Formats: sequence, structure tokens, C-alpha cells
Amino acid sequence: MSTTGNNAPALPAAAVGPDESAHSDLVRQLLTEALSRTGSGTGASRTPQPVPPKGVPGLSHLSAVENHSPVPPVHPSAQPAAPKLAESEKSPSTPSGGHSPDNGESYAFGEPRCNGSYRPQNNRPDTKVANRNPLPGLAEAESATPEYYFLRGAQPAGKSPLACQSYPKTTTPIPKFDVEGVRRDFPALHQTVNGRPLVWLDNAATTHKPQAVLDATAQFYGRDNSNIHRAAHTLAARSTELFEAGREKVRKFLGAADAKEIIFVRGTTEAINLVAQSYGRKNISAGDEIIVTELEHHANIVPWQLLAEQVGATVRVIPINDRGELILEEYVKLIGDRTKFVSVAHVSNSLGTVNPVEQIIALAHARGVPVLVDGAQSTPHLPVNVAALNADFYAFSGHKIFGPTGIGALYGKAALLEAMPPWQGGGHMIKDVRFEKTVFQHAPEKFEAGTPDIAGVVGLGAAIDYLFKVGIPAIAAYEHALLEYATHALSAIPGLRPIGTAPNKASVLSFVIPGVANETIARQLDKQGIAVRAGHHCAQPAIRHFGLETSVRPSLAFYNTREEIDALVRALHSLKRS
Ligand code: PMP
Repeated sequence: MSTTGNNAPALPAAAVGPDESAHSDLVRQLLTEALSRTGSGTGASRTPQPVPPKGVPGLSHLSAVENHSPVPPVHPSAQPAAPKLAESEKSPSTPSGGHSPDNGESYAFGEPRCNGSYRPQNNRPDTKVANRNPLPGLAEAESATPEYYFLRGAQPAGKSPLACQSYPKTTTPIPKFDVEGVRRDFPALHQTVNGRPLVWLDNAATTHKPQAVLDATAQFYGRDNSNIHRAAHTLAARSTELFEAGREKVRKFLGAADAKEIIFVRGTTEAINLVAQSYGRKNISAGDEIIVTELEHHANIVPWQLLAEQVGATVRVIPINDRGELILEEYVKLIGDRTKFVSVAHVSNSLGTVNPVEQIIALAHARGVPVLVDGAQSTPHLPVNVAALNADFYAFSGHKIFGPTGIGALYGKAALLEAMPPWQGGGHMIKDVRFEKTVFQHAPEKFEAGTPDIAGVVGLGAAIDYLFKVGIPAIAAYEHALLEYATHALSAIPGLRPIGTAPNKASVLSFVIPGVANETIARQLDKQGIAVRAGHHCAQPAIRHFGLETSVRPSLAFYNTREEIDALVRALHSLKRS
């Protein structure tokens, strides 16, 4: 097994053009071709991309489907449609998957730039992008610019985030959103910690639960508790009904076509391990390659390393640039005949970057490669529709979407799941057991050995009901405005260096303040009732890209307020720095 970064030769500085539009054109061109070939990808049906939501600044990257209704299957022979952009959405200043704007100069870590920003020391070749076509023949491909959405910048035009981290004052008004009403639903938010009202800004680690989730779980244990299936009594029927109703809620939440495509697992970590050990061990062998990215959570790195070790495959890594965005041109260079799987986060838990997963999937499918999307950090913040994304697998955790811990779900396309072997054996996943031969159930039961977390599923279903009631597009819009507000407010803290400055972000506000230990910052904030995480956030490669081992990470949810951001900023202003 080996894990490599992009092993493309280091490029001379001169090859790294500052012309972002050239890179953008290249990726556009590749995507045109990829999208036109997608129908022959993994045999999956492709559905037209939904029109991005209107009136939500910076959110048009979302494959939003307001009601999360399943997209009807399209006949496999149907041509995939490139995502459509409204005229007003097309921006000539739309940045490409960027690259470091510096010209090969090396800066010592800690050297301050304007407004307290710092330039990373590692002038890594893998953050450089060659302005050349990595796939022969594509240069001649049809040059018409496709109508598709790529990253939109909240960054001021012409200003690189490395050149100056001074954020523009947010102009986005906080959309109408009854945050106080929402907060009343969350008992845990109404407590004092160290004599101050709790300010919960550790949502990327886990979220608090609305009363509806607590009630549903208590009611299950207090009234309906029974093991599911295999019994002819009333409580078994009730709990089975609740369990399968939970599966249907997850189907709707993810926009999957069929509840049979939803497997209950402990969380995102278990979902990814399931795919690695079941799909991976069957379909990936010696010499093959698995592509992940530099910004992954360890849960989307280590299972692939374990698989690679077991079968003799190699893990390859799409690098990020110094804003924390994936360099798609490097992905195009990495993906090849040896690539057998791509696994990528929808949203980075350490940097907040929203990755262009539609494009990543389309490019993989053009080569017949399936893609898993880690949705642990997207599902709490953005509308998700697996059919619109054309994801082969999609994983998320209940506790990040205001549901219980210990429960999560894996979506997998029915055809893929049917062809996959079980990964754990036991009760419930079998049709017939003999010592000579055991016959397994179909998906999803085939992958759900043993007694599941029934109460967890009930609580997860209640969390999904709650999110639908509040409205996921409304949540996304509110949080986006709050993130802009917080980004601007934090830029006023002397010396604060933001980590992860992609124009498209969700929830996460990683930073360091050179000269003050991250843990010290978190402890001082805790004294004021403010909960943030300090550490590597289980994403060491991503944090190390910035020359760091840890960062401080406030992370937002829809129950956070501007007043809480103001409290954070006040506390940081009064930080004891010695
Ligand atoms: N992926 C991402 C992006 C995450 O943020 C997390 C949790 N921090 C995980 C995977 C793992 O989730 P869990 O611990 O719930 O399995």
C-alpha cells in the first residue's frame, strides 16, 4: 500500500500562470466532455441538475431541490443535461479552481501579510497548476462554454485571499428567519456555562437536539420498545413500522429513488468503512488507485488506506490550493485507467470548503469510476439530492443533523448495493442459514447485521422532520449570511489568520492567532461560556497544508445568532496573549 500526493513533476514557476481563466477554461472543457459521456459512466441514470436556488448569495452551487422529493429516474439512454444557469447567475469573474497567486517566492511561516494574515511556508509544488492539457485530445474538443456552475466568489474581484485577508463588510442582510423561535426548541442551548449563557459554536463536532428528537426517542423507549421484524406481536409491529418509516424519511432527505438504497449504520465513519470493505474488496485490487482529497476527514482517508494495504492498491490525493479549494486540474491529471474509486467530502470539516462534487462525480463517471460523497458536513447546512448529484454512495451522521449519536445512513445506488457482498455477518441479514451454505437478504438488510439502533433511527427521523419543518433552503440562506457576518467580524481581531478562505464555504471558521496556543484560546473562550474546538479536527493533512498542526474552529448552525458571534469577537479581543 502506498499513499501519494500528486506525483506530477514539480513545475517551474514560469509554468504556473497567474491566468485563472485559462485553468477555468480547461476544467470547463473537460467537464463538457465528461458530462456528455456521463450516461455511460457507472451505468447509473443521470438526472438533470436542478436550477440553483434564487436569491441566496453564494449558494447557487447547491443542487437544491426545495422539497427533497425524489427525482424520477431517467432512462439510461437519456442524455445528461449540463446544469443550467440563469443569465443573472453567469459571472465573468467566476473564479476557477484557484491556485496560489504567488510566483514561486518562498515565505517563512509566520511572516505577516497585510491585516494580520500569514503566508504559509510550504511553497508546495502540488498547489501549482500547469496551464496545459493533461488529457490529449481534449484541447480539440468542442470549445463551446457549457452552461454549468462553478465556484462563485465572495472574495472581492481581483483580490487574492493570500494577498490580503481583509474581508469586505458583509452586505448580505440576514434573511428573515425565526432564530429565536428555533432556539426555543433546543433545551441544551438554554444553560449557563461558567456563569455565562452557553454559546455553542462546536457544531461541526456535534449538534444539539430539538425537543422533538428527545421526545421521539423517549416515547420509543417508554412505549414502543421492541426488537424489529421477526415477531407477531403489537410492539414489534410498532417498532418495525417506526424503523422503516425512519428509512423512508432518510430517503426523502437525501432525494434517493428507493428506501432500499438507504442502509442504517453508526455514522459516516461506518458508512465509508462499509463501502471500502464491501465494494472495495470486491472491485479494487493490486495496482489499482483510489482517489481522495487533501481536505478529507480521517474517516475518509484511513478506511481507504486499510483497503489499499489489504489489496495492494494505492491512495492518490487531489491537492488543495492555499484557499483550501480542490485543484480540479490536478484531479483531472490523477484520474486514469488505474482509478477504481473516488471518495470526497461534500463540505470540509476543518476548512468549510464546499467542494464541486457534481463536477467531481461527472469527471469520474466519464471514466466509469464510482464516487462516494462524505456528507457529514453538508447535510446539516445544505439541501442535498443524491439523484441530482448522481452520487453512487452518500454518507452522513445523525448527530451532525440534530439527531442522536450512534446512528447514520449510507445511500448507495440499488444496482451497486445488490452486487456488493455483506461486510458483517449475523442475524437479520440472512434468508437462510445452513452449515453448508448461507443465503443473504437483499439490500439494505444484507448490510444491517444484528439488532440496529432502533431508537436512533426514530430520533433521526424526528430530526429530519424538524429540518423539513424549518426548511433546509432557509437554513442554508440564514447560515450563509451568518457566516459572512462572522468572517468579517473575525477579520477585525489583531493577528487572526483565517484557515480556509474558499469563496464557497459552509459553517466553519477555522483560524489561528500566532503567539497564542490554540488550546489556550479555546480554554479562555470556555471561561466565557463559548464552546469552540481546538485541535486537528481529524483532518491533519488539511491543517498541515497551512503549515499548522491545529487550529481553533468555531462552527455555526442555524440556531446561532449574530449576538453570539459578537460575544465570540468580544472574547477574542480581550484574549490574554501572554
Ligand atoms: N467526515 C466528516 C467530514 C466529518 O466532519 C466527520 C465527523 N467530524 C466524519 C466524517 C465522521 O463522522 P462520525 O464520527 O459521525 O462517523
